[in-house]
Amino acid sequence: MSVKPRKRRQWPLLAGACILAAGVVIFIGDSPFGTLTSSKKEVPDIVVATPVPTPTPRVALEFRMLDLDRGWVKYADGMAHTSDGGAHWQEVTSTEALPTDGGTATNGLEAITKLLSLESGTGSTAAGASGASVASGAAATTSSGSPSVDIVTLNGTMFDVKQSQFVTPKIGWALLPSTTNSKSPLVLTVDGGQSWIDGMTEDAKAIIQGVKAHLTQLQAESLLYKDEAGAKAVLGASWKLIPDQASPGDIVLVRHKEPGSIAWQGKTYTLQPYEAGYFTYLPIPMSVKAGTYPIGDQTLTIKAKKFETQYLKVTEQMESMKQDTARINADQKKIDLARSKSEPSFLFSGPFVKPVEGILTTPYGYTRYVNGKYDSAHMALDLAAKEGTPIKATNDGVVALAELLYLTGNSIYIDHGMGLFSQYAHLSELRVKPGDRVKQGDIIGLVGTTGFSTGPHLHFTFWAHNIQANPDLFFNTTPFQWVK
Ligand SMILES: [Zn+2]
Repeated sequence: MSVKPRKRRQWPLLAGACILAAGVVIFIGDSPFGTLTSSKKEVPDIVVATPVPTPTPRVALEFRMLDLDRGWVKYADGMAHTSDGGAHWQEVTSTEALPTDGGTATNGLEAITKLLSLESGTGSTAAGASGASVASGAAATTSSGSPSVDIVTLNGTMFDVKQSQFVTPKIGWALLPSTTNSKSPLVLTVDGGQSWIDGMTEDAKAIIQGVKAHLTQLQAESLLYKDEAGAKAVLGASWKLIPDQASPGDIVLVRHKEPGSIAWQGKTYTLQPYEAGYFTYLPIPMSVKAGTYPIGDQTLTIKAKKFETQYLKVTEQMESMKQDTARINADQKKIDLARSKSEPSFLFSGPFVKPVEGILTTPYGYTRYVNGKYDSAHMALDLAAKEGTPIKATNDGVVALAELLYLTGNSIYIDHGMGLFSQYAHLSELRVKPGDRVKQGDIIGLVGTTGFSTGPHLHFTFWAHNIQANPDLFFNTTPFQWVK
């Protein structure tokens, strides 16, 4: 403000000098070139000109982003806030109109720091540690591992930075001491401070949207694991075997940060996207030898397991059932077709339950001899219960098959997604049909003794990618909770 009066005082002097000069022209011009009137016109042209006012730089004092969208800037003469990451700013008249900290489970500053620390597998999620980084003042208001910024370059010009804040290791904002040369009060980076943007671009907006979607996925996925330590062990790893030790007849859930596939026991298993990762079930066939096997950058340890032997006596008529290979093969085609398609998603969220509270007559994996001859390995549970006992769906899913088959009698297969099916056999009655969506605990049928069966019981098992899997692993838990 002190500049302007001085300039104004100079104007009368300058004008006087011009009039004097014009007078000289008039005096000289009078004799060779003619009239006075033409020269007089030029005098007011000079006097009328006014100085162009220089815009006063707006002095910025401090700023704070509350998440990836909301933030405020304090100036010497007012305040402004944004709710779209700095693309637009609005003046506010009182501090009461400013957004405050908080937000939902995924978008608040603390929530973002916590989710990213789960994924990085490093940062502490203790309340004390995150509180300390927030309270450490304007010069270091960054999440752990964020770059510190002293200078930013915009269109080839370097500017001092008054304050910077990173909400993720890549996405941050910086405040310049004055905003004269910038469209927005804050400049933005989406590449960890390597380049800066004045305002917002479509590319930057897309990157921020992508990060927000990823945070939502991390939040949803973290809730699937047993606890925070389990979530960190999985989300912080590139490859994770859940669990990394198993036995023949078991199943392992594999997660990878990136898309890909696994070659295992002569088959290829494609990882399917789900929440923040890529997953597949890996069945451990009975033929797998004990030892260690590399999967991704991890090692799967297979431990030998001894299965008991069971001797079963049945009538000759029953024994002859197994000789009708035409009917058995026809059924197998139906079953294979039903199990060939599975929803590419986990269809359950809560734990699996026992379908009936029956008496366990044959545990999983028993080597079974029928009338003294080797029959099969019994890769299921036999749960004896009274005829007509209601059978519950072990978990949410879609009915893939529900019909009377030759050996397994009235049979149901439920798809739980990602190639996992539960199987229910020998029912007296079916209460569902293919395509039905069922919830955990829904009554899907009644206990019976149809097909190759010596008495009322439920033959129950799981199949992962068409290989039978031990049901005992599932009860009162989910594969996500097998993290050790
Ligand atoms: Zn059975």
